[in-house]
Amino acid sequence: MSKTYKISIIKGDGIGPEIIDEAIKVLDKVAEICDFKLVYKEYLMGGIAIDTVGVPLPQETIDGVLDSDACLFGSIGGPKWDNLPRELRAETGLLKFREAMGVYANLRPAVIYDELINASTLKADVIKGVDIMVVRELIGGIYFGQPRGNDGERAYNTMVYTKSEIIRIGKKAFEIAKTRDNRLCSVDKANVLEVSQLWRDTINELSTDYPEVELTHMYVDNAAMQLVRNPKQFDVIVTGNIFGDILSDTASMVVGSIGLLPSASTGDKTAIYEPIHGSAPDITGLGIANPIATIESVAMMLKYSLNQEEAALKIQAAIKKALVEGYRTKDIASFDAKEVLTTEQMGEMIKNNLV
Ligand code: NAD
Repeated sequence: MSKTYKISIIKGDGIGPEIIDEAIKVLDKVAEICDFKLVYKEYLMGGIAIDTVGVPLPQETIDGVLDSDACLFGSIGGPKWDNLPRELRAETGLLKFREAMGVYANLRPAVIYDELINASTLKADVIKGVDIMVVRELIGGIYFGQPRGNDGERAYNTMVYTKSEIIRIGKKAFEIAKTRDNRLCSVDKANVLEVSQLWRDTINELSTDYPEVELTHMYVDNAAMQLVRNPKQFDVIVTGNIFGDILSDTASMVVGSIGLLPSASTGDKTAIYEPIHGSAPDITGLGIANPIATIESVAMMLKYSLNQEEAALKIQAAIKKALVEGYRTKDIASFDAKEVLTTEQMGEMIKNNLV
């Protein structure tokens, strides 16, 4: 009998519904080919939840996602909700959601497709062969630290990590490095921040359990520069919440577009799969959003949460075929594009490429 998986869906705001619809099309087709079943249930979060039920993260969403095998997430937020009090903001809901799911490890692969080398703003010889995994700590650091506040004259946030939080993410990063090229670069700001010194000392202590992994350390300002200067030097990068947020956006431009980068947020409960980009209000409704980051996120979901690695590989092959044949969305269209497709056409193309 074929297996059935419960998938919670959060489309969110802006381009979220547009890209999730395409990802579901692809997921349905691959499920048919690989003979497993999917039951979807949609939940509200972000601006649409504020408009519908008055809060950015309804309890029903937390309960529903906890009861599912995996969560596919679009994006939330937008200018419409930016002036609400902070506790009602869409982004506050997202942080609470990640905390409720305990998803401490955010895996953000950045791999260059040879076909898209011309879509990057960097030179071909700098980016050819780039294959980086950014492991970002997701539920600690300055985005969560207390106290925080703003009285109109003075505003403050607290960057805090406990040793156990660093050990948890560090172990994950070393384990991932072991499945790749055995190289781990830990990024911090230990020359200035006490919290980074504890980070560095703890990662050093952990490294004795992983003698096969070559560990290096880099300050975050240098890492930002090195990612653009010579991205191929990196295999796995492990870093805290805010540094990982910024560095993975830099990595996205190395490989061509933010519309290409997927992510998996994993912990001890239901994992969340989402593109690294936001709700892109500037292009919402224009039909030009690139759905590939979300479709790649589905491939990560199949691999990490549903144990359907063959289906994941099929999706990646279908994306590759579309790119090899010269099909592009607007954000990755360079002079060598055969045809520039809409969001929906790209989703359809990838679906039809599945075999
Ligand atoms: P963004 O990632 O939404 O957009 C940055 C730029 O990249 C824009 O020019 C956008 O058009 C482009 N872009 C993003 N995704 C694309 C895609 N799939 N295809 C083509 N182009 C794409 O970041 P922003 O503008 O800083 O934020 C917009 C809103 O999204 C804000 O409210 C922010 O808080 C929210 N946000 C949400 C998440 C999330 O839901 N996880 C993440 C980041 C930002």
